[in-house]
Amino acid sequence: MRAMVLDEPGRPLRAAKLPAPEARAEQVVIEVHACAVCRTDLHVVDGELPNAKRQVVPGHQIVGSVVAGGSRFPPGARVGVPWLGWTCGKCRYCLSGRENLCVRARFTGYQLDGGFADYTLADERYCFAVPAAYADAQAAPLLCAGLIGYRSLVVAGDGERVGLYGFGASAHIVAQVARWQGRRVFAFTRPGDAEGQRFARDQGALWAGGSDKAPPDELDAAIVFAPVGALVPAALGAVAKGGTVVCAGIHMTDIPSFPYELLWGERVIRSVANLTRRDGEEFLKLAPQVPVRTEIEEHPLEDANEALDRVRSGQVRGAAVLVP
Ligand SMILES: [Zn+2]
Ligand SMILES: [Zn+2]
Repeated sequence: MRAMVLDEPGRPLRAAKLPAPEARAEQVVIEVHACAVCRTDLHVVDGELPNAKRQVVPGHQIVGSVVAGGSRFPPGARVGVPWLGWTCGKCRYCLSGRENLCVRARFTGYQLDGGFADYTLADERYCFAVPAAYADAQAAPLLCAGLIGYRSLVVAGDGERVGLYGFGASAHIVAQVARWQGRRVFAFTRPGDAEGQRFARDQGALWAGGSDKAPPDELDAAIVFAPVGALVPAALGAVAKGGTVVCAGIHMTDIPSFPYELLWGERVIRSVANLTRRDGEEFLKLAPQVPVRTEIEEHPLEDANEALDRVRSGQVRGAAVLVP
């Protein structure tokens, strides 16, 4: 099968031919129909996350069909594979409904080979049924951009005024959900990115401006999707008393020091890590009700490096999706 392989962090992915995977107990072999690109893939490729599998195949927003193995899904069933690939089921986090924090968790496209390939292998217990309303490529970004965004929105609380810092794949989905929930959405892009701001307004943002600008109203919560630590004090400065700033990414540049006054007034800073299977079930049920519409650009599998570069430079409106 064809696969895009990371030989070494910092190097472009290499187009390789690998043996097709074979399923062991509780695993399914999946023919990949689409795999969306996430900023986390960039962090893996750039070596910003420790303990990646050697020669890993990235990609953790996979939509495909079961071709062999397992007992949970019939052959041919369409399934989605998310970032959370395996948990131990025994640690204190797993036993308290927080498998997203499992100490032995393994993640797709990081410690397990992912979906930048013709076929992939997944533990069927961590796969999701994909809502029928979505075509394969449109569904793929729901599996991380949508899921992690949804988890971030939930932990942000139910305040009415929500700020989204970094308007990429995740924010464009969260904006639609937040709007549907009756909230007001304020979008922050790279300063001067007029096209990105227009895109944010198209997705339901009431206001869109550069991250160096103050929103027209105080925020009840802010979600920082961009991997830029300096946005944390900026977001803190924009939230009202009692407001929460959620850092949604797996990696971020250092957060600069800031005056305590920014945190005072019971403001909260927190991160969101990974997902639980419950998040996935909830969000994939919710998405077609909104209905969330994903904006995507498709790339052939061989163009994975170009797709990653477009995510890196913020040129993608919505999500980039690899289609083998
Ligand atoms: Zn565990
Ligand atoms: Zn992701």
